[in-house]
Formats: sequence, C-alpha cells, structure tokens
Amino acid sequence: MVQGRNNSQETVRVDFRFRRELAQKLEGNLASFCYQCGACVGDCPATTYSGTFNPREIMLKVLYGLGEELLTEDSILWQCTNCYNCHERCPQEVKPVEVIISLKNMLADRGIIPPSAQKIIETFETTGRTTPISSAVHKQRERFGLPPLQPVPMDEIRALIEPASKGGDTA
Ligand code: SF4
Ligand code: SF4
Repeated sequence: MVQGRNNSQETVRVDFRFRRELAQKLEGNLASFCYQCGACVGDCPATTYSGTFNPREIMLKVLYGLGEELLTEDSILWQCTNCYNCHERCPQEVKPVEVIISLKNMLADRGIIPPSAQKIIETFETTGRTTPISSAVHKQRERFGLPPLQPVPMDEIRALIEPASKGGDTA
C-alpha cells in the first residue's frame, strides 16, 4: 500500500485504496470537489469548542488519501456533532458532514467505536431514540403545551437497522 507522508522530503503519497474504500460508502465522489475555501470551518461547533477539529483539514486529508491519520483509535472524527452546518455553508456541495459520517462508518467497520457512541447505539437499538426520555422531559412537554411523545415503531426501526448490522450498507 502506498500511503503517508515522507517527512524528509515533505511529500504526500496518495493512498488510493483508502479513497476507493471511502468512495464505496458515499454517493458520488464528494470530497474531490473540495477547493479548500474553509467556509465549512466558520460555523462548525466542533471547531469552536475543540480547538483541534477542522472540517477543511479533514477534507484535505481525504483528498490526499491520508486514511491512517484519520482512522485512528483516538480519531477526532467523533468530535463532529452531525449538525450539518458545514453542509449549508459549502459552496461546492461537498457535504463534509456526509464524508465524515462515512469515515465514522469506516472506523466502526474496524471495530473502533468510542464508549459514548456505543452508548448512543445501544439506546437507539432498544428505544428507537438516541437519548433516553426521562419523566422530566414528559413534564416539560406538558408545561409547554406539547402533545405527549408517541411510542417509536420499533418493528420499523429494526427492519431498517438489521441489514446494516448484518454487514449491509451503513452509509
Ligand atoms: S456537521 Fe460536523 S463538521 Fe459539519 S459543521 Fe457540524 S460539527 Fe462541524
Ligand atoms: S466549504 Fe466545501 S469546498 Fe470549502 S473547504 Fe469546506 S468542504 Fe471544501
């Protein structure tokens, strides 16, 4: 495999295997249209609060095929909140968030899932929601005059997630 940086000469050798693997997770070759303008960075909450996360830099690493810098045990990718602000801002319709979600799927394929994400997965699999609904939530809804939350149709949720858990398309 050809991958990585050659520090002595400051050159980058593109890892095309990583790029092919990512392309299989995404509809279209989205990252290739990134022209590094940085518009996705300005309104990114993960950038604001982490100080190290930068969607433009992630897109650059994707362009170079630097998968091994992104797909690590302590990957910064999990700092992305999936808020989609970058999707709204990008003039090239790169959809950085969807590239990042696909990279997270690649991490999961390698068995790299942080405990916080694992907890969300388990809650979703058992309740159909990503966070538990406490009695305080029900009371607050009542106070604001909102209707009670309806039960989640778990049979439909299971029908959707079963193919993915058996190794189907998770992108
Ligand atoms: S989806 Fe992720 S990368 Fe995009 S703006 Fe939100 S936190 Fe940042
Ligand atoms: S806004 Fe779009 S084109 Fe600009 S750096 Fe971000 S992903 Fe690339």
